[in-house]
Amino acid sequence: MSAETIVPTPEEFRRAARGWLAEVAAPRDTSTRWGSGSDAVAVFENWTEEEEHRYTDATRDWERLRYDSGWGALAFDPAVGGRSLPTHYEYLYRMEEADFDVPQRTEIFPVTCQLIAPAIAAWGIPEQTARWLPKLLRSDELTCQLFSETEAGSDLAAVRTRAVRESDGWRLDGHKVWTSGARVSTWGLAVCRTDPDAAKHAGITAFMVRMDAPGVTVRPIRQMTGGESFNEVYLEGVHVPDTDRLGPVGEGWRVTQTVLAAERLDSGSLGIDNALRAVDLAGHQPDLDAARRAAAADLAVRTLVQRALGLRVMATLSAGGQPGPEASVGKLVATRTLRETSDLVADLLGPRLVADDGSWGSWAWTEHVLGAPGYSIAGGTDEIQRTILSERVLGLPREPRR
Ligand SMILES: Cc1cc2nc3c(=O)[nH]c(=O)nc-3n(C[C@H](O)[C@H](O)[C@H](O)COP(=O)(O)OP(=O)(O)OC[C@H]3O[C@@H](n4cnc5c(N)ncnc54)[C@H](O)[C@@H]3O)c2cc1C
Repeated sequence: MSAETIVPTPEEFRRAARGWLAEVAAPRDTSTRWGSGSDAVAVFENWTEEEEHRYTDATRDWERLRYDSGWGALAFDPAVGGRSLPTHYEYLYRMEEADFDVPQRTEIFPVTCQLIAPAIAAWGIPEQTARWLPKLLRSDELTCQLFSETEAGSDLAAVRTRAVRESDGWRLDGHKVWTSGARVSTWGLAVCRTDPDAAKHAGITAFMVRMDAPGVTVRPIRQMTGGESFNEVYLEGVHVPDTDRLGPVGEGWRVTQTVLAAERLDSGSLGIDNALRAVDLAGHQPDLDAARRAAAADLAVRTLVQRALGLRVMATLSAGGQPGPEASVGKLVATRTLRETSDLVADLLGPRLVADDGSWGSWAWTEHVLGAPGYSIAGGTDEIQRTILSERVLGLPREPRR
């Protein structure tokens, strides 16, 4: 934050955000009666490629308006279109935006603006931040995460995609998997092995790869929900100029840590809307027995606890700290909310969950039940979050490292 930045109080900021939102968007319609309107509760959208492009473009239009009006990129430097506000002002803004009817951002937007753009701000040289950040923060160009491989997920440092020096840059060869949003991305941030002889975490370098470069092939993966939210990405002899290397050679591990820490931070509010919808479902059952009533009450309380944890993350940020354990706890609580929501609706709906009888708000829940487990894996599995907590918070002995 520059010395001359005037930071509005949270109340002033929220009032101004609300004022702007009221000028450009309609209030969210909360009058929908139970049993009418959309009953969608998908955790991952089931889109065709054409639908994914169409929805991404509509969301991009909104993100551009937001950025051009000074309500995007809040925590970034004014040189790249930001306002140098403290990080938690982004959350304050989103609390206001939730009351308005604006496109719901799909995963690729936070991946671009909240995970990869901050990593570029932290690791990019001035020429790179000037070249990439305004386009990414305005969502003109989106960026996917080319991290995971078939043998490198939780153990990301095991990546085998090779980057070998050639003339004015690097030649990339390898196979990435589970890449969300690859079909709509201009760039991918790829984690590659540049020194096979160095210690595992030391021989890694990060590159921004153009997804339309010769040698890049994107193949969608069909999910059990029926959709194709993520993809395999083949890199075969892809030339990347050295000017597109992010961070020093051999420092790619630290670049990925910047991205992953932001990813945990971003997952705390996951699942709350669907949990409350499930509680509503319980409220609309005739003759709800005591056990189910208690399960619904537990879920409602859980959403309050989850929101309170979100406020702790915000409090740490607003005090200038970096939430570590709070973010891991937040992600674990969120994945449990998703699971308990599935358990409650499965119990309430019984066979109506698995056989589409055309009734409102029953079969639609399959999209939640089948999608929810994905978040116990994405962005660091539940087991890995527990390892982080046991080692870094509880001070238990570190697990053996290979
Ligand atoms: C919805 C979704 C979106 C995703 N999007 C992307 C993306 O955009 N880009 C990208 O690069 N990747 C993405 N991924 C991949 C994701 O990062 C990996 O799936 C995740 O890191 C786990 O890796 P893995 O699947 O290889 O499982 P593994 O690491 O092989 O784990 C298998 C099981 O073993 C457990 N396990 C592994 N190591 C340990 C340990 N040390 N201690 C205890 N248990 C352990 C895990 O918890 C898990 O239960 C996405 C995944 C999902 C589900």
